[in-house]
Amino acid sequence: METETIVARLKSSGLFQTKGFIGGKWIDAYDGKTIEVNNPATGEVIASVACMGEKETQDAISSAYDAFGHWSKLTAVDRSSRLRKWYNLLIEHKEELGQLITLEQGKPLKEAIGEVLYGAGFIEFYAEEAKRIYGDIIPSPLPDRRLFVLKQPVGVVGAITPWNFPFALITRKVGPALACGCTVVVKPSELTPFTALAVAELALRSGIPPGVLNVVMGDAPKIGNYLLESRQVRKITFTGSIAVGKKLMASAAETVKKVSLELGGNAPFIIFDDADLEVALKASVASKFRNSGQTCVCTNRLLVQEGIYDKFITAFSNAVQNLKVGNGFSEGVSQGPLINEAAVQKVESLVQDAISKGAKVVVGGKRHDLGLTFYEPTVISDAKNEMLIARQEIFGPVAPVIRFKTEEEAIQIANDTDSGLAAYLFTNNIQRSWRVSEALEYGMVGVNEGIYSSEGAPFGGVKQSGLGREGSKYGLDEYLEIKCICMGNMG
Ligand code: NAP
Repeated sequence: METETIVARLKSSGLFQTKGFIGGKWIDAYDGKTIEVNNPATGEVIASVACMGEKETQDAISSAYDAFGHWSKLTAVDRSSRLRKWYNLLIEHKEELGQLITLEQGKPLKEAIGEVLYGAGFIEFYAEEAKRIYGDIIPSPLPDRRLFVLKQPVGVVGAITPWNFPFALITRKVGPALACGCTVVVKPSELTPFTALAVAELALRSGIPPGVLNVVMGDAPKIGNYLLESRQVRKITFTGSIAVGKKLMASAAETVKKVSLELGGNAPFIIFDDADLEVALKASVASKFRNSGQTCVCTNRLLVQEGIYDKFITAFSNAVQNLKVGNGFSEGVSQGPLINEAAVQKVESLVQDAISKGAKVVVGGKRHDLGLTFYEPTVISDAKNEMLIARQEIFGPVAPVIRFKTEEEAIQIANDTDSGLAAYLFTNNIQRSWRVSEALEYGMVGVNEGIYSSEGAPFGGVKQSGLGREGSKYGLDEYLEIKCICMGNMG
């Protein structure tokens, strides 16, 4: 399908927006500046969007601040039913939203629609949880006093999101924020603004009042700085790279904002000799190659025990060889392009470093014949944890496989990183599954499972992979303040 045809169809549904969204209105950048957004699968320009900066961000914050007074005072039931309507609309438009994701991000359409279903789940879940934000009554140490705990929304939230999940990483933040009574200014990646704008359009249609959700995009450091400097913004929630996360955390100190960070990972996928090889094989391909490896919880390093190493390499290579690379709109494609040229260059340099240090390319190892930013699904054997490919986040379709001897060695290699987002282990030994799960320094562990994610489960990392959790009942805490009220003279 041509970019133009898809855009024309999306335009007719009203879901194709190119302006920022402030106070319930579609707004051009005040100086008229725009920025082009490309389809990574064809290199074509999809359209230009408003390129905003400080002034627009200031107005978005003011709108969110004004709307907070009203939104936070609605009953939880009222907020819940609006979120529910929003969820229904997101599901109703899952095809169009999926097409927008494939168009600007490149993942296969089926995977993109899967992202919509997953992401919409957060709006549904938090529509329900909105009604269950309970306080506490605490036994008083003195007979004439009564102690209560109220949970109240933090206020205006600044949400900065990346390009790899342009839909779900917005709903995962905005769902709990709105459920708690907060209002939000979202800054999506300049590479994938269309999905965010369609999400805002559907929020408007679902009766979420103007100013409760705002979207500004453009100059990331300027928008980020303004969100961080503003005293009206009480919380920053960020998903993205560790480097940018650290900068934002340091700047948030100036106004002592609440901060949550979902940062990069370096997921180990450990297969023990006693694992069910079929189960491990299927899971490893999905865990490594979904979204062309551009997922924070994607397997970064496979650690395979020596007894099954050779057998695994053969079976894994056969499976990887069969992955179909192409435009995400084409039937049967399981792997789209990488997001941009810089991403391909990073993958190339990591592969070169591994080869120069003794690793072997078993499958792939180079750019795909399709050109642009397509890269061949790649398997690298004889990898070592010291190689850059095992130390950095690859964010591409390359699977380095490391050999290990003992359980202790596997744990040591797995934990030898500053990241701590997701880890996976495959064994049929129940004691080992507990022992290793407890020893892994990660926020999420999959046992005989290579994809961990649902709206009901807490998502987040330890060490430099982040702070706080998204999803689940714990995800609400990030948007709530605890207030203790002491009533005296109650005897
Ligand atoms: P990134 O460069 O850190 O960008 C993330 C967001 O921050 C984008 O909206 C970007 O805007 C913005 N940004 C960049 N520099 C900024 C600055 N100085 N001030 C304020 N905002 C700034 O990360 P990315 O390359 O887009 O995303 C990939 C990273 O995200 C990977 O490390 C991945 O692991 C991580 N990630 C983590 C999770 C998780 O849940 N833990 C989930 C998904 C992705 P522009 O794009 O417009 O420049």
